[in-house]
Amino acid sequence: MSNSIFQVPDPSNEPILSYAPGSPEKEEVLKMYNSLYNKTIEIPMRIGGGNVKTDDLASMNPPHDHKHLLGTYHKANKKNIEDAISAALKARTTWSKMPWQSRASIFLKAADLVAGPYRAKINAATMLAQSKTIFQAEIDAACELIDFLRFNVKFMQEIYENQPENSPGIWNQLTYRPLEGFVYAVSPFNFTAIAGNLSASVAMMGNVVLWKPSDYQVYSANVLMEVFIEAGLPDGVINMVFGDPEMITDTVLKSTEFAGIHYTGSTSVFRNIWNKIGKNINNYRSYPRIVGETGGKDFIIAHSSAKPKEVATGIIRGAFEFQGQKCSAASRVYLPESKAKYIIKEVQTELKTITLGSPSDFKNFVTALIHKGAFDRLVNAIEKIKKDKDVEIIAGGNYDDSKGYFIEPTVALTTNPKYDTMQRELFGPLVTLYIYPDTNWKDTLELVDQTSEYALTGAVYSQDRYALEEAITALENSAGNFYINDKPTGAVVGHQPFGGARGSGTNDKAGSASNLLRWVSPRLIKETFLPASDYRYPFLG
Ligand code: NAD
Repeated sequence: MSNSIFQVPDPSNEPILSYAPGSPEKEEVLKMYNSLYNKTIEIPMRIGGGNVKTDDLASMNPPHDHKHLLGTYHKANKKNIEDAISAALKARTTWSKMPWQSRASIFLKAADLVAGPYRAKINAATMLAQSKTIFQAEIDAACELIDFLRFNVKFMQEIYENQPENSPGIWNQLTYRPLEGFVYAVSPFNFTAIAGNLSASVAMMGNVVLWKPSDYQVYSANVLMEVFIEAGLPDGVINMVFGDPEMITDTVLKSTEFAGIHYTGSTSVFRNIWNKIGKNINNYRSYPRIVGETGGKDFIIAHSSAKPKEVATGIIRGAFEFQGQKCSAASRVYLPESKAKYIIKEVQTELKTITLGSPSDFKNFVTALIHKGAFDRLVNAIEKIKKDKDVEIIAGGNYDDSKGYFIEPTVALTTNPKYDTMQRELFGPLVTLYIYPDTNWKDTLELVDQTSEYALTGAVYSQDRYALEEAITALENSAGNFYINDKPTGAVVGHQPFGGARGSGTNDKAGSASNLLRWVSPRLIKETFLPASDYRYPFLG
């Protein structure tokens, strides 16, 4: 038994490897990519300590090469989900009592495994499963995941250290209990790090988890599970299940032991789940914790004092990295009339240098969209733009899904600030520009605030400090992560805690102590050393 006051290692952000020509990391990841590409695997679910297979299989294909088979995975039936809940609850009896420093060790070891022996594998799996360039895979599957794991351990210690005041003869203690029951983690396709964090952050605080990855991330989710197991995570603490999201969710939400959901994905799915939780509320032992980070319609607004090249770079990186499939991706841009033509020219010129293709060719900046549904959604929007009178395509607009789901980075210009693509989250490589008269700066700020139901990220570019101040004030509620003279993407754990409000989520800030606090239920213990032995207070005398 350990009875020391422990200090966890101070975290620092994982350095991003360059993958420059001739670097050992480039050689290693390409070797891994080719080896994974050239074999097929079968991925079971992980329930309790067991690998669970069913007769119901689905296939996995790289989005940039959709006829190629990476393997298959096993889909759950209702009984599997009930088993996973039972396995989690069984594990809870010992896991919830595990000393916190031992929980910390497991996740610190997981971080070191990803930083070292698993780095090439988790990056290559993310390149294949989600069609990320090596740089996008490295900043997500390796670095962000490692940062989540290491920083969260530090935040966990800070939470436990937070203790109330005492008075003479009385000692007040706060303990941070895990939630009673189990937590349901539902993750999106677009970030391997988010998938890892949604389950790991909850488990780190002593909870047990039923984790359902996206159908389009199973391949890299499986590598996460391998890491957790090798790090020593006990059986049943995180149970990984695949399959029909409706059936799985309905089964989970029927359990009286459902204690919370840690969700990231689209807004409509989250609202639907919240509704179902509401309908079941009388069945639960505790009020479930509901944490969800959802959609965005993220903006860039440039002031007339902004530098065109900086704005153009913000647009290209902010809108098109990972094909615009980041919740933070810029998809509506407001340009001042006096600078618009320079900014647009720069964007058009630079976009001509961008090539599309497989992430295995490191020259490609843009790769494929995640699936046919996403491809069709973007194609429909592009075709509508081609027909509509108040909008035109000024760059890109071509697409081809014969080998992979490829869509050119596309820029639309509209005269209608409320045009469909200025309001609707499309989650792809399409950004719409609107030009405003320089003198309408303040009205345009209001327009930015009022145009979308979301409030996730946004950026303002300006060299004028008064204009910046006006933007900071006018856009206070328009974005949970607000950038000054920078693109609206690329939040770093420990530096820019991430999340938005309005239709974008509960804003519990992934990568911060606020998020971890949602996964504990504090218990206050007051101890009196010399208890009163007479009920009479002095004033009665
Ligand atoms: P999605 O909504 O299609 O899926 C998210 C998860 O919900 C998946 O696991 C999916 O299987 C599950 N799901 C789907 N339908 C369901 C249903 N009816 N009941 C229960 N679960 C269901 O989202 P996606 O395409 O994987 O990811 C893109 C979305 O995620 C975008 O809207 C993006 O903005 C959002 N996102 C937000 C953040 C953030 O931090 N705010 C981060 C990443 C992604």
